[in-house]
Amino acid sequence: MRFSGWQILKEGLTGNHGWRPHWRDPAPKPEYDIVIIGGGGHGLSTAYYLAREHGLTNVAVLEKGYLGGGNVGRNTTIVRANYNLPGNSEFYSHSLKLWEGLSQDLNYNVMFSQRGVLNLFHSDGERDYAARRGNSMAIQGDDAVLLDREGVRRIVPYLDFDNPRYPIHGGLLHPRGGTARHDAVAWGLARGADARGVDLIQNCEVTGIDIDRGRVTGVQTVRGPIRAKKVGIVVAGRSGQVAAMAGLRLPVESHILQAFVSEGLKPVIHHVITSGVGHFYISQSDKGGLVFGGALDMYASYAQRGNLPGAEHVMEAAMHVMPMIGKARVLRSWGGIMDMTPDGSPIIDRTPVDGLYIDCGWNYGGFKATPASGFAFAHLLATDRPHASATRFRLDRFRTGRGIMDEEGAGAQHNLH
Ligand SMILES: Cc1cc2nc3c(=O)[nH]c(=O)nc-3n(C[C@H](O)[C@H](O)[C@H](O)COP(=O)(O)OP(=O)(O)OC[C@H]3O[C@@H](n4cnc5c(N)ncnc54)[C@H](O)[C@@H]3O)c2cc1C
Repeated sequence: MRFSGWQILKEGLTGNHGWRPHWRDPAPKPEYDIVIIGGGGHGLSTAYYLAREHGLTNVAVLEKGYLGGGNVGRNTTIVRANYNLPGNSEFYSHSLKLWEGLSQDLNYNVMFSQRGVLNLFHSDGERDYAARRGNSMAIQGDDAVLLDREGVRRIVPYLDFDNPRYPIHGGLLHPRGGTARHDAVAWGLARGADARGVDLIQNCEVTGIDIDRGRVTGVQTVRGPIRAKKVGIVVAGRSGQVAAMAGLRLPVESHILQAFVSEGLKPVIHHVITSGVGHFYISQSDKGGLVFGGALDMYASYAQRGNLPGAEHVMEAAMHVMPMIGKARVLRSWGGIMDMTPDGSPIIDRTPVDGLYIDCGWNYGGFKATPASGFAFAHLLATDRPHASATRFRLDRFRTGRGIMDEEGAGAQHNLH
């Protein structure tokens, strides 16, 4: 079923009886060419592009809960291509281009809103870094505008420019960045993959990975064994646990990231605003809620909720940058499990087990990577070669030390990236 203005009109006039479920609910088959573990944004995107780009449809996505119930439905939806280092720059640049056509491509409104991402800076040193980053973005072909203090004031006059601790010196504006509706992204990709014949199997936790003489042969699940020629692990915060089923120890730690949303307000924030020093970022959802967050909770955990010191830190940072937020009431908070790598950059690669592939290490920035990650992982699964946009996301870089991409210069401590 294609969505269109005509379809809406027709259904509206005939009682809305013609809408169909977005995807089927198939029972697992005994065997597939490719099994993808994880029905989050990246797993669904991989399935979609396997079918669309490579014509591979004997594919199953196995999800332990419901589609989109993981981080893809828990994030703060910021999409940007403002990376500094070769490897990351071209990948996120590719992703942004895919975002720009995604709604049309999927025939599903993912509510991609290019409202601009504004990174504030609060010192001369930060200004230098912002200028360097803006130049890297421009070289990559993306857009960046360095604003002085008055330039920032013109577009976001409600910030506290004279905070004694964090005075605002200016900002780096990335006009093509913005937000998208996270659920819609998961649902649109799921619908697109299902329509091309991919089986999306919910409530199907993978409990084991079958390996015979160094080659993957299938998976064990709570709904029985499923044979597969190739298996892709795309489980974000659970990457370490699932990879361990194949005897692999990943260079990944799982940490919690919290987010918060206020009561619905009239439109007040027209951009995404971030402040690195205090660890704070904010945007306004289409429903009117102020959606904001900060840094990781700083301890490793698989809990999908955060602790109070983490919440307090975010509220403090919010009050520093934007004191008027103190008048809004926080409606709810939640957390997600982040798959943190030692250099803060992702992994899309083969593993030492033949036929077993991994896509992980998205840290707290994997939502914006959703289309390009699926595109690149599908390419790897289909051709056994890395896609041109993701050649540096090697698993062995942490063993060899070659090709480390430490975007923020934070060193080898997972939770500082
Ligand atoms: C609070 C918060 C804010 C964030 N903000 C942003 C942001 O603004 N911008 C941005 O780019 N990124 C952001 N992120 C990060 C982003 O959400 C993640 O990096 C990205 O969603 C991870 O990929 P995914 O969508 O595939 O993960 P998930 O949606 O978590 O998918 C993984 C799936 O694997 C399933 N799974 C796990 N184990 C098994 C198993 N054994 N068998 C079967 N299935 C299994 C899980 O149930 C889950 O559905 C944020 C994350 C959080 C938590």
